Amino acid sequence: MTKYVYLFSEGNGQMRELLGGKGANLAEMTKLGMPVPFGFTVTTEACNRYYDDGEQIHEDIQKEIFEALSELEKKTGKKLGDKENPLLVSVRSGARASMPGMMDTILNLGINDEVVETIAAKTNNPRFAYDSYRRFIQMFADVVMGLSKARFETIIDEIKAERGVKLDSDLNADEMKEMVSKFKEFYREQLHDDFPTDPRVQLIKAVEAVFMSWNNERAIYYRQVNDIPSSWGTAVNVQSMVFGNMGNDCGTGVAFTRNPATGEKKLFGEFLMNAQGEDVVAGVRTPQTIDQLKEVAPHAYDQFVKICGILENHYKDMQDMEFTIENGNLYMLQTRNGKRTAAAALKIACDLVDEGLINEEEALMMVDPKQLDALLHPQFDADELKKAKVIAKGLAASPGAAAGQVYFTAEDAIAAHNNGEKVVLVRLETSPEDIQGMAASEGILTVRGGMTSHAAVVARGMGTCCVSGCDDVKINEEAKTFTVNGVTYHEKDWISLDGSTGNVYGEAVKTVPATISGYFERFMSWADNTRKLQVRTNADTPRDAKQAVEFGAEGIGLVRTEHMFFEGDRIRAVREMIVSKTEEQRRVALAKILPMQQGDFEAIYEVMQGLPVTIRYLDPPLHEFLPNTDEEIASLAEEMNMTFDELKNVVVSLHEFNPMMGHRGCRLAVSYPEIAEMQTEAVIQAAINVNKKHPEFDVHPEIMIPLVGDKAELKFVKNIVVKKAEEVMEKNGVHLDYKVGTMIEIPRAALLADEIAEEAEFFSFGTNDLTQMTFGFSRDDAGGFLKDYYEKKIYEQDPFARVDQKGVGKLIKMAAEGGRATRPDIKLGICGEHGGDPSSIDFCHRIGLTYVSCSPFRVPIARLAAAQAAIRNK
Ligand code: ADP
Ligand code: MG
Ligand code: MG
Repeated sequence: MTKYVYLFSEGNGQMRELLGGKGANLAEMTKLGMPVPFGFTVTTEACNRYYDDGEQIHEDIQKEIFEALSELEKKTGKKLGDKENPLLVSVRSGARASMPGMMDTILNLGINDEVVETIAAKTNNPRFAYDSYRRFIQMFADVVMGLSKARFETIIDEIKAERGVKLDSDLNADEMKEMVSKFKEFYREQLHDDFPTDPRVQLIKAVEAVFMSWNNERAIYYRQVNDIPSSWGTAVNVQSMVFGNMGNDCGTGVAFTRNPATGEKKLFGEFLMNAQGEDVVAGVRTPQTIDQLKEVAPHAYDQFVKICGILENHYKDMQDMEFTIENGNLYMLQTRNGKRTAAAALKIACDLVDEGLINEEEALMMVDPKQLDALLHPQFDADELKKAKVIAKGLAASPGAAAGQVYFTAEDAIAAHNNGEKVVLVRLETSPEDIQGMAASEGILTVRGGMTSHAAVVARGMGTCCVSGCDDVKINEEAKTFTVNGVTYHEKDWISLDGSTGNVYGEAVKTVPATISGYFERFMSWADNTRKLQVRTNADTPRDAKQAVEFGAEGIGLVRTEHMFFEGDRIRAVREMIVSKTEEQRRVALAKILPMQQGDFEAIYEVMQGLPVTIRYLDPPLHEFLPNTDEEIASLAEEMNMTFDELKNVVVSLHEFNPMMGHRGCRLAVSYPEIAEMQTEAVIQAAINVNKKHPEFDVHPEIMIPLVGDKAELKFVKNIVVKKAEEVMEKNGVHLDYKVGTMIEIPRAALLADEIAEEAEFFSFGTNDLTQMTFGFSRDDAGGFLKDYYEKKIYEQDPFARVDQKGVGKLIKMAAEGGRATRPDIKLGICGEHGGDPSSIDFCHRIGLTYVSCSPFRVPIARLAAAQAAIRNK
């Protein structure tokens, strides 16, 4: 029979999965002989069972709970609900991974109208007894019944006003008693039921509330962001109470064994005398620093310092602890590996290695790769952020913090930027035309679009903060205003964006610049020595490429050639090419584009100094580049010797119903081979030129044909490439090594990868398109309805942010195997957005890819994630 309840003395620190983090650590501390109030843990399996049984705690589990309770009663000599010697307990949630503040705790459970009198008499402290009682009602009503704490606070304020006192601590026993009866009255009024007086009923209801809280909105969101499956469930800890609020030789506190902000090796924490539970963090009174405990409670302090040392050595990591002092005696209530800033994380990891506590591999596993973001982007000033009000929430599309004045068009953004203003660009969605405006902004906010929308991808590439898919915001483009929750913001109003959380603030919040500490280099060198995967970058400009190399990129996995088409007046030549009706006309336009592309490639080769560069040929649907306004059409028509109507007709004829599945990718080269010819000439000539200037670089380009679905299709384009390349080499009288490969981004290509590998010298998985085509929903629209899928637990993760290993991953694996079967040494990479996502990187490692490629600012993250994958899968 499954055992659903464990006494603290039966468990240990290894049992996280079953007992949750808090429970396992309470058991471990008990085992280490530390002063932990006795208790028991109801397992995560019981939580899952609760849901399987249709949200009911099974009789067998209730029986086990009451058996454990009698053990607890034996051990403490007290009894729940007893009139002589009552036991009070806390009911605390604890999932496998720490989810701080996600689920609430109930303290002082077991009090009723009789028990409170006993406590008052026994402690000779009626104020304490009634204070505990009113706290219990408040917490129980909030956590179990969903009555907000704030409504009780109003009652407290009324009583205080009536009696003319300021602080809770100024209220006397009678006033506390009055508060209790008012609370109970309010409870009855609101819930049409009496506050439960039977402590056993209280206990079961509280356990159930913890189970329920596993599926509250906050918890679901937190799990999604942090990669925690809903199947884990939460455990519940029932623990006998110790009281920090019984007098002046009592207190409660929290402390870290090292400074969580800087990593400095020094005890860091706070405590309050005569206080309970969350009082320290709730800011009821100003707490004292942990050093001061030495004077106030010297015996407890010494014992605490000793325990800190033991715990750190035992867990080999910085600990975050909660303690309570009851009548001068110390009790440990919690320990866990402490959360810390990125800077502290690196320092602590390096220090622990130097102190001989851990080795380099263990150090690598200690740091969350995503945390490195904070070192590379500006962040909000922590104190200011606490005061700022969130007005809306979107997707955390590109990390960093931005404060600026609102502008609604790329043009206005550029003008304001040139004027020395800080800009936040607010758009319904962005398109390639907005790129310069995006570059001029501190941050970008879009109403529509998911994690792979244009705004998100481009912003990540630039390292600019972006919140996308924020549909709480209603834009009025004409009036240049947006409205959120009834409040209207105008052009030039200040707002702030947190691209790491998706929060939008309706004011300017101070930011602090990125800082890379000395520990970064050392730590990352360990990662580089450990990983098997190479890390490349997606970069379209020399600037991005340079940034990526500084962050440790070992090549470029994706140059999107079309991203250069919007700069300056290039777009005119591009438009000319697109609307050309004849091949001759098109060749004239292509001849204008050729030197620009060639120049771009030369600049990129020079920055990369011989590191591999994969250049993807023209990919997007052509209409993205078309002139939109009549004005633009008129001026282009004039230049091309066409009438306005003629050109307008061409524009209309190029309209596609589903451009994502339309005339794009290699299909363009099939229709217009001269485009591929021009791009080949630019790629090859640029390489020859750079090699002439810098023979030591020895550039050999990798040409990547997008959107291939068949070997014959690839072969057709490859023939054009090879023919042109030979021509260019002959003209220059030199030989150049280059490769032609393809993106695998259409399910058919994955299925036929073995055949395609006969022509392709490398594969790169374009997982954005592969995901959208495998799921059959578009990446621009999915954001709108995927929310419903998460809520209904059909999908738990955004497949555009994290590779769907089950479906899309199956195709990738199949294609990798197919490719290798035909061409054993085939180079395999991934260049979709997933290339920078740690869990996707782990997958890439496991299926043996050669490299991952991601936006420049994710390169350090990918280096660390790749190292962790290598360690994890050893
Ligand atoms: P969280 O996970 O939000 O920190 P906890 O379960 O740790 O929630 O508890 C909240 C507060 O209550 C903490 O300050 C903790 O120390 C205190 N607390 C929990 N159990 C007890 C207990 N048995 N006796 C005294 N204080 C307790
Ligand atoms: Mg806690
Ligand atoms: Mg694609």
